[in-house]
Amino acid sequence: MARSYDAVVVGSGINSLACAALLARGGWGVCVLEREDELGGAIRTAEITEPGYLHDVFSAWHPLWVGGAAHAELGEELAARGLEYLNTELPTATLFPDGESAFLLRTADANAEELERHAGGDGEAWGRMLESFFPNADLAFGVLGTELWSRAGVGLGLKAYRRLGRRGLAEFVGELTISSRDWLNRTFESERAHGLLAPWVLHTGLGPDAAASGYMTQVIAVAVQEGGMPIPRGGGAKLVAALERLISDHGGVCETGRDVERVLVEGGKATAVRLADGEAVGAARAVIANVTPTQLYGRLLADGDVPPALAAKGRGFRYGRGEMQIHLALSEPPRWDGDGRLGRTAIVHVTPGLDGVSRAVNEAERGLLPAEATIVAGQPLTMDASRAPEGAGLLWIQLQELPSRVRGDAAGELDAGDGTWTEELRERYADRIVTRLARQIPNLESAIKARTVLSPADLERANVNLLHGDPYAGSLALDQNFLWRPFAASPGHTTAVERLWHIGASTHPGPGLGAGSGALVAEQLLRAPLPKRALGRVRGLVRR
Ligand SMILES: Cc1cc2nc3c(=O)[nH]c(=O)nc-3n(C[C@H](O)[C@H](O)[C@H](O)COP(=O)(O)OP(=O)(O)OC[C@H]3O[C@@H](n4cnc5c(N)ncnc54)[C@H](O)[C@@H]3O)c2cc1C
Repeated sequence: MARSYDAVVVGSGINSLACAALLARGGWGVCVLEREDELGGAIRTAEITEPGYLHDVFSAWHPLWVGGAAHAELGEELAARGLEYLNTELPTATLFPDGESAFLLRTADANAEELERHAGGDGEAWGRMLESFFPNADLAFGVLGTELWSRAGVGLGLKAYRRLGRRGLAEFVGELTISSRDWLNRTFESERAHGLLAPWVLHTGLGPDAAASGYMTQVIAVAVQEGGMPIPRGGGAKLVAALERLISDHGGVCETGRDVERVLVEGGKATAVRLADGEAVGAARAVIANVTPTQLYGRLLADGDVPPALAAKGRGFRYGRGEMQIHLALSEPPRWDGDGRLGRTAIVHVTPGLDGVSRAVNEAERGLLPAEATIVAGQPLTMDASRAPEGAGLLWIQLQELPSRVRGDAAGELDAGDGTWTEELRERYADRIVTRLARQIPNLESAIKARTVLSPADLERANVNLLHGDPYAGSLALDQNFLWRPFAASPGHTTAVERLWHIGASTHPGPGLGAGSGALVAEQLLRAPLPKRALGRVRGLVRR
C-alpha cells in the first residue's frame, strides 16, 4: 500500500468534511476522496446562469449547520478562515393565491401577533405551543443529535423517563409520531397558519400527512424563530472552502476526481479502499463512507463481506420523491404583489395551503406532475448582495413534489413520454412554475435574463447520492427514519464490518446541512479507547 491514513472518508459532503475536520483537529491523519471535480456534494456555488450571478446550485440555507454540533465545535476556526454568516428578521412566509400572506418571524411576540392577525386565539396558541415545547426542547432536538442505538441513546431515554415518568414518556413519544395535518388542525384555527407551516415538512423529505411530520413541523417552527435563516456571505462554497482549509491546516488531505469503488475488508475489518484507477489507500483506524446503502451494499462491499440477507436489505433501501431546482438571473429584484415584506423575505412558499401541499405530495407520490406544486422561492439577495450585480435580482426555486419517474400530469397538459426526465419535459414543467409565479410577481417574466433548470435526473447525474433525484438520499418514512435509519437491519452508523462507518444523509439524523452523522461518528472515534480511559481514571485517583 503506497499510502495510508488513520481514516479514509469516501465522498466529500458536509458530513464527510465536518467529520474529517473534527478528526484532523483531534490528531488523526485523514484523507477525503471525492469522485466529482469539486468538494462539497450538495453544496456548490457557481455562476450557472450569467456572469456575476452566484447561485447556490443545490442547498442554500444553513440554519441546520449554524444550529448543529459541528458548527458549535468548529465555528470559530471556520470564521478565522473566512466564513461569515448573514441572517435576517424575515426568514419565511407563505403567499396564498388570493394575495394574502403569513409570516414566520424571529420572536415569540412577533409570531403571536402575526398569527393573531389571521385568527383570534392563534396568537395564544403559538405561545402555548412554545410553552409546551421549550421545557422538553432538549429531548426533541436530542433525538436528532444523539446516536440512538448507543449508551447515549439509552441515556436520552432515561433522562426523558426520569423527567416525564412512564405515562409522560408514552405521551411524549406518541406526540413524536403525529402528522403535521393533525398537529396543525389541533393547534391553530386559521388556514393561513396551517399554510405557513405545512410547506416546511417538505424540507424534511415528508408530506403533511406522514407520520412524524407534526413533530418535524414544530422543530422547524421553533428553529426558524430562534435561529432565522442564516447563509454564508458569498454562498455555500465558502463553508466548503473553510472546512477544506481547516482539514489541510491540521495535516489532512482532500482529493477530487477520486472514485472509490471498493472498501477492502480483511478478517472482518475494513483496512483500505480501492479507487477506480486501481490505487489502494490504507485506513489504519476507520473507513467512513458517505454513500447511500444502495452503493454501500451494491458496490463498495464485495459478496461475502456482510451476510447476504443484510446486503439485500441495504440494496432494498427506498428513495423519496424527486426534486427540481430552477435558477433565475433577473435584471431587477422581483416585485411581489402583496405585502411589502415579501421582497425582503428569505424563503417564500407559494401554495394554496395545507391541502395544496398535501395534494401535490400525493400526486407526486402517485407518479404525477402536480397540477399546483408548492413553489419554494428563495431570495438569497435579501441578505447577501454580493451574489449578483448591483440592482439585479436572483431567485433560487425549489420544487420538492416530483416523481422521479413520471407517469402523467395531474394538470393533463404535459406529455410524460416514457417517464424519463427529458430536457423537453424539464423545461416545459419549469415554464408552468414560472408562469404561476409570474401571477404573483408581475415583473418576473420581463426581468428574466437567464435560467438554468435541474431535473431529478440532473440531480442524480451531479451527485450519485441523490439517487432517483431524491434530494434527501432516501425516503424518510418512519420505518427508515430515527431509530430505523438507514434501515432497521443496520441502524445507526456502525456496520457489520468492523471499522467501517456509514454516514451521510441516508443515515440518522438524515438530510440537511447539520452534519449530524459526521459529527456523531467523529465523536465516537475521538473518544479514547477504554483501556486509555481506565488508565486516566487510575492516574487521577493516584494524584488525589
Ligand atoms: C437541491 C437541494 C437543495 C437542498 N437545500 C438544502 C438547504 O437549503 N438546507 C439544508 O440544510 N439542506 C438542504 N438540502 C439537503 C442537504 O444539502 C443534504 O442533505 C446534504 O448536503 C447531504 O450531505 P451529505 O454529507 O450526506 O453528502 P452529499 O452532499 O450528498 O455528498 C456526498 C458526496 O459523496 C460523493 N461520493 C459518493 N460516492 C462516492 C464514491 N464511491 N467515491 C467518491 N466519492 C463519492 C458524491 O460525489 C458527493 O459529492 C438540499 C439538498 C438538495 C439536493
